[in-house]
Amino acid sequence: MILKKQKKKLKKFKSNPIREECGVFGIHNFTDASTITALGLHALQHRGQEGCGIVSFDGINFHSEKRHGLVGDNFTNKDILKKLPGKSAIGHNRYSTTGETSLRNIQPFFADIYGGGISVAHNGNFTNALKLREKLVREGAIFRTTSDTETIVQLIAKSKRQKMIDKVIDTLFQVQGGYALVMMSDKKLIGARDPLGIRPLVLGKIKDSFVLASETCAFDIIGAKFIREIENGEVVVIEDNSLKSIKPFTKKKERPCVFEYVYFARPDSYLKGKCAYEYRKNFGYELAKESDDVGDIVVPVPDSGVPAAIGYSQYKKIGFELGLIRNHYVGRTFIEPKQNIRSFGVKLKLSSNKSSIKNKSIVLIDDSIVRGTTCSKIVKMLYDGGAKEVHVRISSPPIKFPDFYGIDMPSKKELLAANKNLKEMCKHIQADSLKFLSLEGLYKAIFSKNRNNTYPQLTDHYFTGEYPVDLVDEQKNDKVAQLSLLSGKSSN
Ligand code: AMP
Repeated sequence: MILKKQKKKLKKFKSNPIREECGVFGIHNFTDASTITALGLHALQHRGQEGCGIVSFDGINFHSEKRHGLVGDNFTNKDILKKLPGKSAIGHNRYSTTGETSLRNIQPFFADIYGGGISVAHNGNFTNALKLREKLVREGAIFRTTSDTETIVQLIAKSKRQKMIDKVIDTLFQVQGGYALVMMSDKKLIGARDPLGIRPLVLGKIKDSFVLASETCAFDIIGAKFIREIENGEVVVIEDNSLKSIKPFTKKKERPCVFEYVYFARPDSYLKGKCAYEYRKNFGYELAKESDDVGDIVVPVPDSGVPAAIGYSQYKKIGFELGLIRNHYVGRTFIEPKQNIRSFGVKLKLSSNKSSIKNKSIVLIDDSIVRGTTCSKIVKMLYDGGAKEVHVRISSPPIKFPDFYGIDMPSKKELLAANKNLKEMCKHIQADSLKFLSLEGLYKAIFSKNRNNTYPQLTDHYFTGEYPVDLVDEQKNDKVAQLSLLSGKSSN
């Protein structure tokens, strides 16, 4: 009976795990470190809106404040920032897909371990977190959260190495997945990026102090200078104003996540030396080259489709119109955890701009189709607003495979393109026509070809099903062993 209950729980947990699609920030040796961190997190707000937290260090003690909701609603309060004194701080924006968000799962996590305090902020997903958790629990570890990030803290605490940085590296050899980590000990700020560089992490400088962030847009707000990306598999150790780079892993070619280019990064953030906005405009050019249709106007789905729509309209020389108006006081549509609220949310967020779409044949541009919920509602909204035809053009290939490296992507069952062919998808969203950018077109828009006539390889399993890091927990057959991990009541 108990086993049956636990099995049900595991199924629920596995089909809806905590996916940390987050933003991280850290600063070392700078006055008002927590205020700067709050500003950095504010710029990274698009990476997660469910919760936010800051841990600071004042030279003697660590201080931690975590809140549900947005950075601007929480960390602009002087009284809260006063509780976070010190010249070093790290912060985190959380975006998970589970129904409830309990405060205990909001990061950064902090623990007092042998050798001092350690605080961890994590963006990404460990693909062997359950397996590691199982081992740790068997050995007596007590987990307080259901987040995979706690595994890192437990492994650091358990490491037999003496120095904190060695404990951290010891831990990195045990975890698998896509991750960007910002950690703070009583002396150091540490940054780490997974061996393939799936999740992003950048280094900047404000005056003489170093800063780490998920994206360069966090540097612009605080007036920091972008120095470089943390390399794939690199660990940086910042102490006072000096930086040491450690490369513990065997060198591999980097494979950043394609979805940062397509959707996730803020348009003004730089990826590999170029603005996300430029890449997305190029997606629009390539999509236009691949499409032989001509509509009366090009309409973007705001805001995600705007850069590609500009590219598309420039290439085709068709007028760009704001046929949809966005209410900026509503969060991202996907943030609502339940399907019925999610579909209602589209109307809360967008409405048709009737004067510009009436009797027009519209080329509607968005960056991606995931479930097709938003897209169907928008197409209907345009028809209801008087559009004559709606031709949907998507500036990335069909998403057929889920993600396990830190992007909120539903299971294969829910992905529209995993279950329908092009014709069926078009029927589902009730558009006059539907077209996606080809995979070749996507790569062409990002890279120039190498000498051997190939493109650098991104982590692009969404479109191809090729997963570059083993999905250990997904493949694990020993389900019964995993059940023991979930026997306690989890509020997540
Ligand atoms: P849908 O039409 O329901 O498939 O939703 C597609 C919309 O969701 C597009 O406008 C995308 O920009 C957006 N989107 C894609 N991936 C994500 C994600 N991981 N989190 C939030 N929104 C997303």
